[in-house]
Amino acid sequence: MTSHRQVPGQLALPLVAAMSAKQRAEVGRHIGRDWRERAECLGRDTDEFYPEADVPRISDPKDRCAFCPVARSCLASALLHDEEGVWGRTTEAERDELRDDITRGIPVAIVLDDALLGPISEWRDCA
Ligand code: SF4
Repeated sequence: MTSHRQVPGQLALPLVAAMSAKQRAEVGRHIGRDWRERAECLGRDTDEFYPEADVPRISDPKDRCAFCPVARSCLASALLHDEEGVWGRTTEAERDELRDDITRGIPVAIVLDDALLGPISEWRDCA
C-alpha cells in the first residue's frame, strides 16, 4: 500500500509506502499531550513555514524550530497527518524520506533522533 501526494498540474503518483498500523502507533507514542500549547511558534505568524519555491526567503523557516521544546511531538504529528510545510524542523520532502525509513523497518525513535538531532545522535551511538 502506498500514499499519494498530489503535485499541482500532475496526476497523483505513489511516492512513499504507507506506514503500517503498528508503525503509526509507534509514531503516535512520540506525541506529547498538549504539545501545541508549548510550541515555539504558538501565536506567531507561520506563513514562513509554508515557503513557495519562487519566493526568496530572508531566513530559513526551520530556524524558527531550532529551539522549540516540542519539536519531537510536532514532527511525529506531521508524519502521522501528512502535513504540508515545515513541521518539527523538517520539510515535506524530508518527512517523506523519514516515512520511507520507518516503512523499511528503521525504529521510529532512531528516525526521529536522526531528523531532530542530526550528528548528535550519531555521537551518542558511538559513545
Ligand atoms: S517544531 Fe517548529 S513548527 Fe513545530 S511547534 Fe515547534 S516551532 Fe512550531
